[in-house]
Parts: sequence; structure tokens; C-alpha cells
Amino acid sequence: MAGGGNAIRGSRVGAGPMGEAERGEAAPRQSVTYFCSNEHRTLIAFAVEATVPDTWDCPRCGLPASMDSDNPPPAPKIEPYKTHLAYVKERRSDAEAKDILNEAIQTLRQRRKSGEVIF
Ligand SMILES: [Zn+2]
Repeated sequence: MAGGGNAIRGSRVGAGPMGEAERGEAAPRQSVTYFCSNEHRTLIAFAVEATVPDTWDCPRCGLPASMDSDNPPPAPKIEPYKTHLAYVKERRSDAEAKDILNEAIQTLRQRRKSGEVIF
């Protein structure tokens, strides 16, 4: 990525300095620590003028986290990943799906016989 990268970088450096200086290191920031119910601590840096949200999704476990370490938000009852996995498992072991498929095939065959479906 050396050649093309350099060309792109060169043009950006030419146009860049002003923009970079504007939002550069001098921009004041505030650091906010969020706590989730799994006792993960997440430090998020916000611009000072930004509105700091009351809750933040924990990047480690995905649970909601709040600034109050003594009282983190409760874990929601539905955990997306688990639910999805259970859903997949259910579908795999689902015998009904097979029946529905067989039924569909039979209907199709009948339709083909009567000329409704041609292929
Ligand atoms: Zn967490």
C-alpha cells in the first residue's frame, strides 16, 4: 500500500493542516467513566461541549453502563447474542420446518402436473 497510499496521503497533507489544527490536541476534553453491571469500567473521552449521555453500552459485554458505580443499570432480560443462538438451534432441530418443506414440494409437484408451474 506504499505507492498509492503515499499519493493519497500527500494530497491530504496539502489540504489537511488547517482542519487538523482546528480540532487538534488543544481541544479540551472530559473523561467520563461508565460502570456496567458486570463491573466493567469504561473510560470515554468526550469533547467538553458534547452532551454526555447518562448511559453507555459497555464495549466489553454490551450491557448498558452508567456513571453511578454503585448503581449500574440492570442487565436487560434479552441478551441479543444468546437469543440469536437459541433461535438458530431451535430452527436446526425443528422438525416442523421439514414438514413444511415437504408440503411445499408436494404442492409444487401437483401444480406442475396441472400445468400451473412450468420449469
Ligand atoms: Zn460490561
